[in-house]
Amino acid sequence: MMAPNDCVVVINAGSSSIKFSLYEGADLVPAMKGKVENLNAGRTHFVAQDTSGNRIGERTWTDAPLDHHGAMAFLIDFAESHLAGRRVRAVGHRIVHGGTHYSGPQQLDEAVLAELDKLIPLAPLHLRHNLAPVRAVAELAPHVPQVGCFDTAFHAAQPPLAQAFALPPSITDLGIRRYGFHGLSYEYIASQLPEAAPHLAQAKVVAAHLGNGASMCAMAAGRSMASTMGFTAVDGLPMGTRCGALDPGVVLYLMDELGMDVAAVQKLMYSQSGLLGVSGISADMRTLEQSDDPRARLAIDLFVYRIGRELGSLVASLGGLDALVFSGGIGENSALVRAAVCREAAWLGVALDDAANAAPGDGMARISTADSKVDVWVVPANEELMIARHTLALLQQE
Ligand code: ADP
Repeated sequence: MMAPNDCVVVINAGSSSIKFSLYEGADLVPAMKGKVENLNAGRTHFVAQDTSGNRIGERTWTDAPLDHHGAMAFLIDFAESHLAGRRVRAVGHRIVHGGTHYSGPQQLDEAVLAELDKLIPLAPLHLRHNLAPVRAVAELAPHVPQVGCFDTAFHAAQPPLAQAFALPPSITDLGIRRYGFHGLSYEYIASQLPEAAPHLAQAKVVAAHLGNGASMCAMAAGRSMASTMGFTAVDGLPMGTRCGALDPGVVLYLMDELGMDVAAVQKLMYSQSGLLGVSGISADMRTLEQSDDPRARLAIDLFVYRIGRELGSLVASLGGLDALVFSGGIGENSALVRAAVCREAAWLGVALDDAANAAPGDGMARISTADSKVDVWVVPANEELMIARHTLALLQQE
């Protein structure tokens, strides 16, 4: 059981940063959060703030950058000196891939970590970075239980047809199928919608998580039915630097005709495409919105067009649409992208309230007109809280 001064720490580790959040007591009240950025390159920078946004720690490493292990050692030290009598009951981690086996939160021990290591080829750019902090905590604070929460788990119960590629069973049986990602974000959205609007508990919803990574998910009664990301997180929508869905024939052509090797194709698809690749300017939506370069316009137009097409496909998978949800850095902050997507979606009965869209506020907000056939909502992403909830629930089961 959680005592009032017990807390859960959530770690969200990417290739160049580690974000952490600390939640207190059984109600998981946020207590502090922070991040270490520029790992492995440049000047590693750390900053932490309390719930009022006051800075409670900051440091820059000017000599040499930290790696993931070094950053975790620093964070554990920092946490210990700022716990102020709190006790860390567990650490929850965001883990991008759970493969076919892990379809729910999982306590992490050496055996599970060894299994997860085998999945690294499925998410080469993310998974090893998710696992490094788990090992660091196991070494530096071995008594603290650790829980893995998988971005694939929410999609694990999708209908089999939504998960299948049209490939022979000998290939499918190797685990080559659609998994879907951003599951913790969608699960959080599914948990929040009925709180704000009870009629949405049983609704047909398409949610768009639009950040540096971007995807969409069709949900019925809070369960995932289909998603735009597939075997890897490069499928579906164009993203900051990822191309999204690509005719697989393009890959064959690049390799066969242009002589590109696997590493070159991977770099093209993951780091040189999407908003950055099309615009030639930036992967950052803010920069593109402020630019009057036609290529920036084209990148935004293509992003919106592809969201509109995927929306049609996801609505078909649901057989209708009651609500459209925007989340992630772009979904929460870009009134321009939301308005453009809603124009594309007018045929579905989406009517945007322009004033509400221009200023939705900080929390969850409805931005459709009162008589819109389809509700449109902005729901700020909070994967961290979802991880804290799962971690606490697993702790309490034991
Ligand atoms: P990540 O997927 O790395 O968590 P975020 O969810 O923070 O990323 O989303 C980052 C994206 O959000 C960037 O493209 C950024 O330009 C965009 N963004 C953030 N604020 C705004 C804003 N005010 N207007 C438009 N886009 C924004």
